[in-house]
Amino acid sequence: MESVTMTIGAERRAGAGTFGSLDPYTGEAWAQVPEASRRDVDDAVTAARAAFEGEWGATPGAERGRLMRRLAALVSENADALGDAETRDNGKLLREMGGQVRSLSSWYDYYAGLADKIEGRVVDTGRPDFFGYVTREPVGVVASILPWNSPLLLLTFKLAPALAAGCTMVAKPSEQAPVSILRFAQLFAQAGFPPGVFNTVSGASREVGEWLVAHPDVDHVSFTGSERTGAAVAAAAGGHLAPVTLELGGKSANIVFPDADLDAAANGLVAGIFAAAGQTCIAGSRALIHESVYDAVLDRVAERAKRIVLGDPKDPATEMGPICFAGQLEKIRTLVAAARRDGARVVTGGDDGGKGGLFFAPTILADVGNDAEICQEEVFGPVLTALKFSSEQEAIALANASRYGLAAGVWTLDVRRALRVTRRLRVGTVWVNAYRTLNFAMPFGGAKRSGFGRENGLEGLAGFLQEKAVWIETTGDTRDPFVLG
Ligand code: NAD
Repeated sequence: MESVTMTIGAERRAGAGTFGSLDPYTGEAWAQVPEASRRDVDDAVTAARAAFEGEWGATPGAERGRLMRRLAALVSENADALGDAETRDNGKLLREMGGQVRSLSSWYDYYAGLADKIEGRVVDTGRPDFFGYVTREPVGVVASILPWNSPLLLLTFKLAPALAAGCTMVAKPSEQAPVSILRFAQLFAQAGFPPGVFNTVSGASREVGEWLVAHPDVDHVSFTGSERTGAAVAAAAGGHLAPVTLELGGKSANIVFPDADLDAAANGLVAGIFAAAGQTCIAGSRALIHESVYDAVLDRVAERAKRIVLGDPKDPATEMGPICFAGQLEKIRTLVAAARRDGARVVTGGDDGGKGGLFFAPTILADVGNDAEICQEEVFGPVLTALKFSSEQEAIALANASRYGLAAGVWTLDVRRALRVTRRLRVGTVWVNAYRTLNFAMPFGGAKRSGFGRENGLEGLAGFLQEKAVWIETTGDTRDPFVLG
């Protein structure tokens, strides 16, 4: 069994106890992971604060950028091992996790380029007796709470801009997939960062995350996970008035208009829901298909779904691995059973596909209304619900009839329709004639209960900066002390 440690300041710490991280494909524990005590969490925040007030806080942007580029190179050198750890922890395809880890250097390089371009502005105060300017400063110590489905990628959405801004961080990986983040933390010393810039705490119990977000010396909380936990995290952070960024769940619509390239649309529906076995926040879990092409599109998607190869996530021929853990599989089964009771027709799938273990076959459900539970609750599994519409207005209304608003896909070759529809969708990302594309430059985040704040792009950097307004008196005049002005 492999073992990992937490990183707290300059120290690699074993923690008060350990827990085993399970490989969902073999069902065996493969790594021993530290269980942090409250003291470990306190020490991690103290280390992050010391680095922020000390050496890191005094490091100029150009030097931060140079260190980030070294980190980018080290991540690339270690990408195979880190991707492998993610697949062993969460059961997603090695070619998906390896690809994600190999892409991380582009995030660190992009934000390294911004680290020395954080500039303020001179403001016309409207007053000849005052010179005014605004600087942009790092928010301070950031607590990051991560989910299990793409650990290092989702951490990087937060960490790369936070480092560019000059912040320090304590990250808490998911108990389901902690290993890659704990190992990645050890690259910081190698890259030459001062101790305390990036710290990790892990634990099987949710207490570790609770201690971290409630810690009064945390300045900003950046959370990615479920809606329910997001609300608890926001409340705890609110207890000490730390601002939060929330990246939560989704129930995204993938809308196929009759003027679409139907082969491309069918492929996009498959990518939207069966990639990563649907364990992705941006899953296009509701297929909205125009009635005139409904059967044609659904037949194509079902035909491809039936051919999806389930198996070992490390095998390059595999297209879907197992579900990450037993509790998640149970949630999928329960929601599919309820959909059947609500009258849903199972077009394909609905069971383990004969594979046993933690597998769940690609599943398509039809003939159920948008207000059914299966269309409103995030399944976070390979379950597509197909809905029919007859007009553009109806498609928009159905897409927006969700408490979530993370993403949407629009399939049409009519540019006017594409512009009309994208404008009216209440979501953070719209793909036109594509699905499930993202990178470091485009802002990412949700509307409604999919969260608030944006990661990636210039917006992601702005989230870790706050403005300071400076007024400089230029005349030496004495003013009335009893009036504002
Ligand atoms: P989760 O909410 O169960 O857990 C997320 C993290 O929060 C874990 O590290 C967990 O230990 C921690 N946690 C749990 N309770 C806590 C508490 N009270 N205080 C502090 N931390 C606590 O989510 P999950 O099952 O790990 O991930 C799946 C969810 O994440 C899905 O809803 C998915 O849509 C969402 N997600 C969103 C995005 C996005 O960018 N919008 C990306 C990926 C996943």
